[in-house]
Amino acid sequence: MKGIWWILMGVIVMTLGLDARAAGKKTDADKGGRVVAYVTSWSSVMPDPFGMTNINYAFGHVNDTFDGVRIDNPARLKRIAQLKRENPDLEVQLSIGGWGSGRFSEMAADPELRRKFAEDCRRVVDEYGLDGVDIDWEYPTSNAAGISSSPDDTANFTLLMKDLRKALPKDALLTLATISSANFIDFPAIMPYVDFVNIMAYDMASPPKHHSPLHSSETLGASSAESAVNAHLKAGVPAEKLTLGLPFYGRGNGPYSNFTDYRNLKIAEGCSDKWDPVACAPYIADSDGKLVLGYENPRSIALKCDFIKEKGLLGAMYWDYAGDNEEGELRKAVADAIMHQGYPARYAAAPRFNALIYYSEDVEEAHRQFAEQAVGFIHKLSYGEGFTYTVAKSFAPYADRLKEYDVVVCLNNMPREEKERRAFEEYMKAGGGWMGFHAAGYNDKDTGWPWFNEFLGAGKFYCNTWPPQPALMEVAPGMHTVTKNLPSEFVAPACEWYQWQPSPSESRNVDILLSLSPKNYPIGIKDIIEWGDFPVVWTNRDYRMIYLNIGHGDEEFTDATQNLLLVNAFRWVVSPMLNE
Ligand code: ZN
Repeated sequence: MKGIWWILMGVIVMTLGLDARAAGKKTDADKGGRVVAYVTSWSSVMPDPFGMTNINYAFGHVNDTFDGVRIDNPARLKRIAQLKRENPDLEVQLSIGGWGSGRFSEMAADPELRRKFAEDCRRVVDEYGLDGVDIDWEYPTSNAAGISSSPDDTANFTLLMKDLRKALPKDALLTLATISSANFIDFPAIMPYVDFVNIMAYDMASPPKHHSPLHSSETLGASSAESAVNAHLKAGVPAEKLTLGLPFYGRGNGPYSNFTDYRNLKIAEGCSDKWDPVACAPYIADSDGKLVLGYENPRSIALKCDFIKEKGLLGAMYWDYAGDNEEGELRKAVADAIMHQGYPARYAAAPRFNALIYYSEDVEEAHRQFAEQAVGFIHKLSYGEGFTYTVAKSFAPYADRLKEYDVVVCLNNMPREEKERRAFEEYMKAGGGWMGFHAAGYNDKDTGWPWFNEFLGAGKFYCNTWPPQPALMEVAPGMHTVTKNLPSEFVAPACEWYQWQPSPSESRNVDILLSLSPKNYPIGIKDIIEWGDFPVVWTNRDYRMIYLNIGHGDEEFTDATQNLLLVNAFRWVVSPMLNE
């Protein structure tokens, strides 16, 4: 199921705007997602000013008197800031902190020092012509990096963010780097003050585990970019305020140094290059197959960028620009995916369509059973937040609100009251979507809804087979989207099969997609049908609708081919929302 849904997810481009605060100074929906590149003070590589949206210059520090900023290699910061002359859209921030950079705890604990530090950040922004500051305190309340700490650091970090926001120019960026676990920071408290959060989704494990796989795997370990993003979402950071950090270095042992930049990567003697398809990560293994270097390559970077889009994140961050090889393979993979491909801001964060799933409980037991199972089936299709749905056991409350739904799925019943029927007719004439099953198309002389006959493209219910039984299906020739990947024949699970009089195949507007094979005749044991054309799935081209006679009993979801048909049909009826 996931694979199919993945295809659904893969074709969507959404261009929802972000509010200005969430996006910082620029409207990211117009220009793609953010790509934040760390550029270090100790490198001499000058970055391509068009290769990213943001540069974080590493590093500044809390100064020795705890009341201001000290900058490493300030002359280089000046040169980096001047790249903005070449690309006026480029934003440059000073990143303050880094592993082992201390004095945060003392500074943040004292209101006066904190205020002075924030004011000095403002001075630096003005003096160097920067776009803001990035705080890399690794980590509040932790002395793992050999820095001072206090249990109050988390609360003081919030106060520091508040003071910085107050001191910095109004449109300046304020961001931070966070540990993959999302520990140490009170995110709901700081989010009003910060523009976005850069997740350091690397250094999460040591060999023989990979330090930054996209997904967890048995071979490469449990910590992953995915778990890091989920931890931050759970901690209260909205997806559109997150960038996923990508390492341009590997972590190794044995023949490899602990930190190995991508540009220096070679396959050591006796080792081989491997790919873990579960983790979506490359690694180098020794002769025993054990990981001795976990790293990134353009393929893993591209998959992480897909993940960033699927999750609706703001973009990507990487450490660091100079770790890439001379061709810039990694940074180009990031820029291509995030900046240059019509990056859909809030890709999956906003559902793309809204479904109303209607069924009655007060019906034949087998029709209720089907409806309940169908709700579970549709629920699985909603994994990944591609759409939202409402389950309605009564039509009336929704009759006035059908406009809110992109598709109405009738599992075992149709609107019964006049008012409901008028509303449904209006909805369908205005381009609404309908997917109807089995008893939802049952209409006889007592139904009294002539419009529905025209809509269904069929006459009245004529007869049915009984008891429910499996039947051989024939796919209509032609390449309709709904059936193009089905075999030409398959056996559908047990169902009660209906015939209509006149048959939908006599209607000029109807496309028959699936029929009972004549090879079934005679079909039924008590109620037997011996002849006639026998449509099972069809559409009326005058509407965005599909009817499936499937939908009786508790075996309807037991067949993979039929399940595929159901997904195809659902996907087809909502396809306008998928931007096809
Ligand atoms: Zn039935």
